[in-house]
Amino acid sequence: MTFEDLGLEPSTLKAVAESGYTEPTPIQEKAIPIALMGRDVMGIAQTGTGKTACFTLPMIDILSSGRSKARMPRALILCPTRELAAQAADNFAKYSKYADLSMALIIGGTSFTDQERALNKTCDVLIATPGRLLDLFERGKILLNDVKYFVIDEADRMLDMGFIPDVERIAKLVPTLRQTLFFSATMDKQIKRLSEAFLMNPKEVAVDAPSTTATTITQALIKTTVSDKGDTLRKLIREEGIENGFVFCNRKKDVDILFKSLTKHGINAIALHGDMPQSKRTEMLATFKTGIAGLLVCSDVAARGLDVAAVPYVINFDVPNNAEDYVHRIGRTGRAGMQGKAFTLAVPADSKMLLSIEKLIGGPIPPVGPARDSKTSATPVEKKSAKQENKIKRDKIDGGTKDSAPSEPLKTKDQPSAAPIEENKPETSQAVTIQQPTVSQTKMPELQKKEQAPRRQKRDRSRHDPDVGVMDHGEDVLAFGAHTPSFLKVEPYVADAAEPTGTIEQPAS
Ligand code: AMP
Repeated sequence: MTFEDLGLEPSTLKAVAESGYTEPTPIQEKAIPIALMGRDVMGIAQTGTGKTACFTLPMIDILSSGRSKARMPRALILCPTRELAAQAADNFAKYSKYADLSMALIIGGTSFTDQERALNKTCDVLIATPGRLLDLFERGKILLNDVKYFVIDEADRMLDMGFIPDVERIAKLVPTLRQTLFFSATMDKQIKRLSEAFLMNPKEVAVDAPSTTATTITQALIKTTVSDKGDTLRKLIREEGIENGFVFCNRKKDVDILFKSLTKHGINAIALHGDMPQSKRTEMLATFKTGIAGLLVCSDVAARGLDVAAVPYVINFDVPNNAEDYVHRIGRTGRAGMQGKAFTLAVPADSKMLLSIEKLIGGPIPPVGPARDSKTSATPVEKKSAKQENKIKRDKIDGGTKDSAPSEPLKTKDQPSAAPIEENKPETSQAVTIQQPTVSQTKMPELQKKEQAPRRQKRDRSRHDPDVGVMDHGEDVLAFGAHTPSFLKVEPYVADAAEPTGTIEQPAS
């Protein structure tokens, strides 16, 4: 299907073509024609699937006939975070290039005066976070009774952040006779109930089962201890050659601590969390987007939904406290059909949370290193078949990397590019996830060489790698090419979980 088939206006098609998009993504194929018909849409899609265009493109066409008055927008897009709102505004600017429409971005942490000035002019589209919008409404700066196109983006996040009462208030301020588009990455009972409150006879569109992880992401679990966590992280960064990616912490104060610690150890990083002033958050994000900033150490709220192209790595320094956050965090990589790797550092006290994550994603996060072997119940037969499978995959990669250039648009379950985690098949799932050809495309040529070299001498089971020390695998371990860095060969969990939790290494003063 092409964008032309979706029924968009020529001016919008021109802007889309200039954005470099040749084909609509699956969620765009499904949602855009329905939105253009004027129907309410209930969209289940993760960030990274191209969902922003699902509500932005039809909105531009629908608004192109008609004019707004000052302070009376005709479309309202509500986003849970400032960064997401800014991203939606960027999308709007890109796609409305040839439409004569104006937009105001209303987010907290920035000057009221500038926003009031923008509202005093004609404003067709308002993109806002709920709190600041209500502030301005209460000051009499906005009237919402001309809104005919209402978007609630990332409804599940609004719920998590406690914004639903605000959204409900806002929904009462916009006319009942309107078109509403409601997007959520997950769909549980609460979200369903909310969608019923906001939508009228909606058409449901979904591109992925709720809370599944993208098939373009290779996941790996690294078992460590609280006291070794900082060290494990630094070794992972150095030995994997991670130069660009997100590092997630559960608490804002740990973001700062970890950022300082990494910087002290000479690792290029910046920090982003919700307690920073908005100007600082914007600056950090802009720096990170240039790619020069290295790692972005961040909290969930700050990084939720951020669309930063080509981020090859996500590291969960802390296992998230909420299983769905795991899906959202790792969804920062593997976007737009590109391959990404997501590492999760887990300490013994995280076992319960890991179980709940694995239940949500429908299978285990493949552990790396021999610790995994000692815990897996794979039989020798299973191991053998997994090894055979690895060999086939390796042969494919050696001969076929070129064929797998990341030219496809976003992938979903409909068009898988790699097998998802398979339950009860740890050997196979590890091999499958790690052996994606495009993983090597995220690496610099010398790192690719390093990964491929041991494959050619795979009979030599016990060898010395000058970069990572003595290697003594009994068999091929494929999580890091054909070797496992020595630091990952940690002991498996001991049942005693009495170890203290929640502390990370404090930078030496
Ligand atoms: P979103 O899910 O809206 O955050 O979009 C994720 C990324 O996909 C953004 O960088 C979009 O610009 C990009 N994108 C949106 N539509 C397409 C498309 N049809 N083809 C390729 N990339 C797209």
